[in-house]
Amino acid sequence: MSRSEVRRETSPQNFETDRGSVEVGFGQGTEPYDIVVGADGIGSWVGSEMLDTEVVRRSTVTWSFRVPSSAEPVLPPNLVSLFAPGTGAIADEVNGRALVNLSTKLPPAETPQPPALDLLRDVADDIGWPIPDYVGTLDDTSEVYFRRDYEVTAPSWHSQNAVLVGDAAHAVHPIVAAGATLALEDGYVLADELVSESDPSYAFASFEKRRRARVKTVRKAAHVAER
Ligand SMILES: Cc1cc2nc3c(=O)[nH]c(=O)nc-3n(C[C@H](O)[C@H](O)[C@H](O)COP(=O)(O)OP(=O)(O)OC[C@H]3O[C@@H](n4cnc5c(N)ncnc54)[C@H](O)[C@@H]3O)c2cc1C
Repeated sequence: MSRSEVRRETSPQNFETDRGSVEVGFGQGTEPYDIVVGADGIGSWVGSEMLDTEVVRRSTVTWSFRVPSSAEPVLPPNLVSLFAPGTGAIADEVNGRALVNLSTKLPPAETPQPPALDLLRDVADDIGWPIPDYVGTLDDTSEVYFRRDYEVTAPSWHSQNAVLVGDAAHAVHPIVAAGATLALEDGYVLADELVSESDPSYAFASFEKRRRARVKTVRKAAHVAER
C-alpha cells in the first residue's frame, strides 16, 4: 500500500468505491485510497455511510469528573466500585487525584442539561461513601462530563474497502471502562492482519473473526453492570 498524506482539521464528505480502491471526498477534490479505516467513534461517518451501524440509546446517563487538585477528599487505597439499585460508580486514583465515573438509570425524557450537578448530588447521596465527598468538591466551574449512554452495533464491521475499529464498530457502555482497551486491541489485530494478507477484504474478515468474541464478552459484562 502507498503512503498517504495526513490531513488535519477536515472530515470526509463522500466516497465512491471502484473495485480495489476507494475515492474519498474532503470538500476540496477527492483522493484515491486502498482502504478506509473508520476509527471515528460513536456516530461514525464511515459506519453510517459505508456500513450498516446502529447507535443504540441506553437507559442510563454517565458522569465523569476528577476531584480538583485544590480539594483534599479521602482517596481510596484501591479502586472502589460501588453499586446501588440502578446506579454504579467507580473511583480510582490517577496522578494523585480521584477520578470518578458514575452511571445511573434515567428515562430519556428526563435527561437534564449537562452537567446536571443537582441530579449528580442526589445520586451520590444514594450510593454513599466516598462518592458524596468527591461530588462535594465540585462547583459550577468544574469540568464535568455528563452524557446519555450509547452503544454501537453492526451486523458486519467491514465491506470490501472499509473496516471499522473501536467505538465506531462496537461502543460498549462506559461502566465497564474497557472501550479504549478494545479500540487499541482492534488496531493491533487489524495491523497484524493487514501485513500478513495482501487482499484487504480477507484481512478485514480475519480481523473481525478474531475480535467478535472478545467484544461480545465485554458487552455482556456491560449489560450486567448496567442493570
Ligand atoms: C465516561 C467514560 C469513561 C470511560 N472510561 C474508560 C476507561 O476507563 N477505560 C477504557 O478503556 N475506556 C473507557 N471509556 C471508553 C473510551 O473512552 C472509548 O471506548 C474510546 O475513546 C473509543 O476510542 P475510539 O478511538 O474508537 O473513538 P473516539 O475516542 O470517540 O475517537 C474518535 C475520533 O474520531 C474523530 N471523528 C469523529 N468523526 C469524525 C469525522 N467525520 N471526521 C474526522 N474526525 C472524526 C473524533 O473527533 C474523535 O477524535 C470511557 C468512556 C466514557 C464515556
